[in-house]
Amino acid sequence: MGTMSECPQIVLDANGRPLRLLAVHAHPDDESSKGAATMAKYVEAGAQVMVATCTGGERGSILNPRMDTPENWANIATLREAEMARAKEILGIHQCWLGFVDSGLPEGDPLPPLPEGCFALEDVDEAAGRLVRVIRSFRPPVVVTSDENGADPHPDHIMCHRITVAAVEAAADPTRWPEHGDAWQVLKLYYDKNWHFARYQALDEAMHAHGLESPYAERLATWAKSPEEQLKLTTFVPCAEYFPVRDAALKAHATQVDPDGFWFAVPLAIQQAAWPTEDYQLARSMVPTEIPESDLFAGLNTHTADRLDTWFYSI
Ligand SMILES: [Zn+2]
Repeated sequence: MGTMSECPQIVLDANGRPLRLLAVHAHPDDESSKGAATMAKYVEAGAQVMVATCTGGERGSILNPRMDTPENWANIATLREAEMARAKEILGIHQCWLGFVDSGLPEGDPLPPLPEGCFALEDVDEAAGRLVRVIRSFRPPVVVTSDENGADPHPDHIMCHRITVAAVEAAADPTRWPEHGDAWQVLKLYYDKNWHFARYQALDEAMHAHGLESPYAERLATWAKSPEEQLKLTTFVPCAEYFPVRDAALKAHATQVDPDGFWFAVPLAIQQAAWPTEDYQLARSMVPTEIPESDLFAGLNTHTADRLDTWFYSI
């Protein structure tokens, strides 16, 4: 009798559907710089991963000297859409746009006011409605977003955090946004925490150990050390073998990422050895789990199967 042993096993939820992970990000490129290796890992394990991108990144600068041309500045919105499409292919994810307008990164002293109509000036509860629709349609047990400080504090990252927290709550309440579908309870909500001191310190030490110049010296010297911040880390997902996929997705955002710059200053093998995980804070959980975790789906009622019969997601 034939077996199906060559087929990779996939992980299903209690209802026999593939596991689903929703990551909510402010701009195209944030999905590739924050948690991309985790997503690639779960995609390979048979999970369905959706990225909801809040804004089109219309006010982003061109950060790659090779792409810094007047034509590219004039077409930045279209370019970023195409870059996102490419990153999506590379990561094997689904992606949707929430349709808000990039707030830009205000600079100067005093800071200039945010541009009218931008994402960061939207009403949080109203803006969350668009994400409620995505949550109720995709029905993810697990959602990942920015923390309350927005990693590198960008007004859109902070707004992304706020609307996600509001949408997760509203999606579970059948009296809110009834026009957006049946209520859906997200079981675990995570905040992305990859920008933390211990990780940069480990990478810095590994660079010195290899006799290489660390790109983090200045950053570490001025880092306001906060033991409370470090204690917020609950979840370390091993995903070093997917770092090359992450890098390829990042490079797809060619206007935003300099291939000779900061993101790629530490050789891959050093990163994989010095800090082989992507890290998260489990902010809310409706299921029992043990901290520290190594899996965003830990504690969920799951089982494995040889193949998936029919369950497709489309938005
Ligand atoms: Zn961003």
